[in-house]
Amino acid sequence: MRADLNVPLADGEITDDTRIRAAVPTIQALLKRDAAVVLVSHLGRPESRDELSMRPVRDRLAKLLSVPVKLAPGVVGDEVAAAAAELEPGHVLLLENSRWEAGETENDPELAESLAALADIYVNDAFGAAHRAHASTEGVAHHLPSYAGLLLERELNELTSLRDDPERPLVVVLGGAKVSDKVGVLERFLEIADKVLVGGAMCFSFFRARGVGTGDSLVEEKGVGLAEAVLEAAERSDCELLLPTDLVIGDSFSAHAERKEVDGIEVPDGWMGLDIGPETTKRYAEAIAGAGSVLWNGPMGAFEMEPFAAGTRGVAKAVAAATGRTVVGGGDSAAALVAFGLDQAVDWLSTGGGASLELLEGKELPGVAALGR
Ligand code: ADP
Ligand code: MG
Repeated sequence: MRADLNVPLADGEITDDTRIRAAVPTIQALLKRDAAVVLVSHLGRPESRDELSMRPVRDRLAKLLSVPVKLAPGVVGDEVAAAAAELEPGHVLLLENSRWEAGETENDPELAESLAALADIYVNDAFGAAHRAHASTEGVAHHLPSYAGLLLERELNELTSLRDDPERPLVVVLGGAKVSDKVGVLERFLEIADKVLVGGAMCFSFFRARGVGTGDSLVEEKGVGLAEAVLEAAERSDCELLLPTDLVIGDSFSAHAERKEVDGIEVPDGWMGLDIGPETTKRYAEAIAGAGSVLWNGPMGAFEMEPFAAGTRGVAKAVAAATGRTVVGGGDSAAALVAFGLDQAVDWLSTGGGASLELLEGKELPGVAALGR
């Protein structure tokens, strides 16, 4: 079983075990059917085998499952194969960090075959990694009878119904810092949504494209060209594209920065835009309140720093209070909801950021496409 056990760590301690807990129902369903479960996941981006062992994940998983969870000495190899062969029904063997093998991200056929040789059936429950064609998410599925896990299935149902048959108006709220990634999907959202609200660092690519001064705000060159194309597409589209009309700026990327609210979108030199302003927050909250369905991905500002959290908090509260169906994706957006104590108030909190956006864009997810072949 491929799960997404890629949890955040600080000093070797798990700071948020949401993803581990999300994998538990499928593991338990398999154990109940007397399966011996060989589990694999990546964890962060290790540069060598001394880094990012799955040990803390094993410990947490054993606690959550209350069954023996053995940690394999690697991802593949003779010792791992022996451990898998000896594994008893009702027990779990967790393989080491799949990215310890260079072949993982290269989707190396030999690694895929070695993984497949450890088991009789492949279950993919790793929605958060399904947009990547890696050996443990895609390659391995070609060698075994392959199925979607319960979480993967639920994610696909929730997100495809939002994409294909949303209650209208469909309001999409996009923000965050992965600017060029997300500006790319905006054009597609103009086709499926009724309103698109833009916040976070992304809006500065739009302002730069319009020739507005952005000071030291986070702007990606690639994002500016993409933003120009989005602005043109928005002219032709029936979808309304909303951009901030006021901002909160700071003189550095710090919780102790000098903070100023500006009425307008011009950012002076020496300053950076770090949040949407109160007027914009109000406008966005109204659009969310009037929505039949809402998709939110990406914080409206640098919400981890209290002086720049108001815009994200305002949007999070509006999403939590909305009467329409609400779906939130993206690791930091989920973290923001948790920080504001609002994570229980949305209809679906997706475990996949990139994967949820690619699915909504209409792209085929390699980890899903490979199943059932
Ligand atoms: P998600 O994980 O929800 O997909 P991203 O990873 O794209 O979101 O972006 C989250 C990060 O974006 C947050 O850490 C936040 O501090 C940062 N961010 C939001 N707005 C700005 C901004 N105006 N300038 C710099 N960083 C920002
Ligand atoms: Mg993120």
